[in-house]
Amino acid sequence: MGLLRVRRRGAYGVRAGPDGPEDRLRRFATIWSRAVFPVTSTSSTRPEFEDQLLPLARRLSEALRARTFDANEGRAVGAALVAAHCTDPEALSRSLDCVDAYLVLYCGDGGDQENLRARSARLQHAMAAGFAQALRARTLAEQEAISAAALKAQGVVAQALHATEARFRAVFEGAAIGIGIADLDGNIIQVNGALLRMFGSSEKALRTRNVQEWTHPEDAPQTWKLYDELVRGEREHYHVEKAFYRPDGTVLWTNLTVSLLRDADGEPQYQLALMEDTTERRLLNLRLRYEATHDALTGLPNRTFFFERLEKALGAGEGQRFGLCYLDLDGFKTVNDSLGHAAGDRLLVEVADRLQSCATAPGEMVARLGGDEFVALTTGPDTEREVDELAARIMNVLVAPISVDGRELTVRGSIGIVEGPAGERGPAEVLRSADITMYRAKSAGGNRFELADPEADARAITRHGLTTALPTALDRGEFFIEYQPLVHLGDGSVRGAEALVRWLHPQHGVLGPDRFIPLAEHTGLIVPLGRWVLEQSVRQAREWRERYDDAGPFRINVNLSPCQLTHPGLVQDTVDILERTGMAPDALCLEVTESALIGADDDLLKPLRRLAEMGVDIALDDFGTGYSNLANLRRLPVSILKLDRSFTQSMQQFPADPVDLKIVEGIVSLAHGLDLSVTVEGVETGAQAEQLRILGCDTAQGWYYARPGPPERLHELALVDATG
Ligand code: C2E
Ligand code: MG
Ligand code: MG
Repeated sequence: MGLLRVRRRGAYGVRAGPDGPEDRLRRFATIWSRAVFPVTSTSSTRPEFEDQLLPLARRLSEALRARTFDANEGRAVGAALVAAHCTDPEALSRSLDCVDAYLVLYCGDGGDQENLRARSARLQHAMAAGFAQALRARTLAEQEAISAAALKAQGVVAQALHATEARFRAVFEGAAIGIGIADLDGNIIQVNGALLRMFGSSEKALRTRNVQEWTHPEDAPQTWKLYDELVRGEREHYHVEKAFYRPDGTVLWTNLTVSLLRDADGEPQYQLALMEDTTERRLLNLRLRYEATHDALTGLPNRTFFFERLEKALGAGEGQRFGLCYLDLDGFKTVNDSLGHAAGDRLLVEVADRLQSCATAPGEMVARLGGDEFVALTTGPDTEREVDELAARIMNVLVAPISVDGRELTVRGSIGIVEGPAGERGPAEVLRSADITMYRAKSAGGNRFELADPEADARAITRHGLTTALPTALDRGEFFIEYQPLVHLGDGSVRGAEALVRWLHPQHGVLGPDRFIPLAEHTGLIVPLGRWVLEQSVRQAREWRERYDDAGPFRINVNLSPCQLTHPGLVQDTVDILERTGMAPDALCLEVTESALIGADDDLLKPLRRLAEMGVDIALDDFGTGYSNLANLRRLPVSILKLDRSFTQSMQQFPADPVDLKIVEGIVSLAHGLDLSVTVEGVETGAQAEQLRILGCDTAQGWYYARPGPPERLHELALVDATG
């Protein structure tokens, strides 16, 4: 220490070598900075920090030695410490320690030690006070900055809100769609200009009405249910098409969207309605719809419209019925062809007008389906009675001649009536039934009405269905053959069997030949089907022969359709089949109905004759039903007469009609005289069999012996017969 004192110089601020006052001041700053630097949060390095402290050290040094002492210098240094990021209390504490230990030592400059120490102490107090004050000010400033920032932020939000509000106002007022706000009780709070214009009303007038009063008879059933759900807060929005009455009584149609507005806590608060005026568009749609649903010529509802109404009528609730008259003009084509389409059109217009006058009661309508086809519909609980009256009215209005181009045209029509309860049939089915019935009326001569008969319908409908399914049925293997034994009346032995074809239809089950043979004849399928039956039956016959050779000659009877007779391949096909199966021609008998051969010329008989010459037997089936000339029998290449079932039936009662017996007896003796054998069909009782045997019949067929069945059944019969 003495050394330091020795090197002391007079005036400060004058560099006086390594130990001058400036050096000592620097050393004090160095010590101070080393003590405090670790607890500052400054971003400076330690030497930089020392440079920051150096002026503070100088202030303290000068204050210490000043002529008049001012403790405020200490405050300034305390505040400066805070400014230099020495805000940690530890930094203050270390600074005060430093000042206490080294300020007088390095900067006292050998003055009055007592006085210097007192000054140093006061400077330290002042430093602490300045430090604390600066720190508080700084904290306050920071808080201030935060709250100012918050305030500023709030200002921005308010401004944004204001902008939103302004934008909302602009949208609200300027929108082309109507906007209205109401509370949840339906009190209207605010409406925009567009809404007022839609209603043609003042805001005041509009606001006096509660939302719930705005009902309209055409409100969809769910409209007010949706409303209730929304105001109860169970639904956020809904969309409906809704009509309103304007104050002047006209109707406003709208697309209405209602949304629920909730407050900041999520509680339902308001309802917001947005509505678009669709009145014009609706009118246009109605116009377009009218055009799409009405016939341009007569102005009557068209097919589309009628189907809608019929669908509705058929879907009506329990107890509701419908009645439909399907009218087709008789001979309208002739009018068109002879007088031209323009005249035909005028006639249709007049007919339409007259029909319209027939169906004016509620629930009644008339429509034009197209061409000269019209329908009249009546609905309600009483259509059973009403539909007949409706049909009678229609027939009645057509009676008076229609004058077209100076001519009096008589118009007649055929009507098919369908009547029934709602909920059972669809429109297409009902219309088809009416159509079928109308055709029945037409084919019965026209100018009449007929009532639909479900059975007749069913037949016509399945006939149609079967015709379309028939072509693929053969490929799909849906046909099969049953066999019915032919029994010798003399000894009861089985001599053969008749092949009877059946159709196992995927939907209708087993169908008998009467259901589909006429269709097969009509479509030409009978040729391949007949060929298939022939081949199958002949194969079956060979199988029987192989098994029961000793059971006697076994013959297979196969039915031939008239179409097959005229088919050029008949002979060749038959020969091929016999050859392929290795069967002799006399194992086969072809049955041809009597009616097919009535008036047959030689050309038609040629194939049959060829077959007969080869040894194939030909039987005249259903003999006695075709009124053929008995003398004609000589011309025909037949060897067997199959007496129709009707003869057998007349023998059912006991005693049998003696005239019938005589007829059969006559036929049998005539047949035998012509070298024909006689087979009887439809033998159902033992008594019949006995009677027919006595009358001289050769062979019999019927349920008394066996019903047609699978080939195995015949094995059993033949076996019983052969062994018994
Ligand atoms: P059909 O040739 O006169 O055949 C006899 C019909 O009488 C058969 O009717 C048979 O089941 C029935 N029948 C047999 N015994 C009795 C009886 O005791 N009482 C009564 N009430 N009926 C009996 P199905 O099988 O319905 O055949 C009807 C007609 O279909 C046949 O009359 C025949 O003309 C035709 N048919 C059957 N199969 C074929 C075929 O493969 N081709 C052609 N073209 N026609 C066939
Ligand atoms: Mg037959
Ligand atoms: Mg027959």
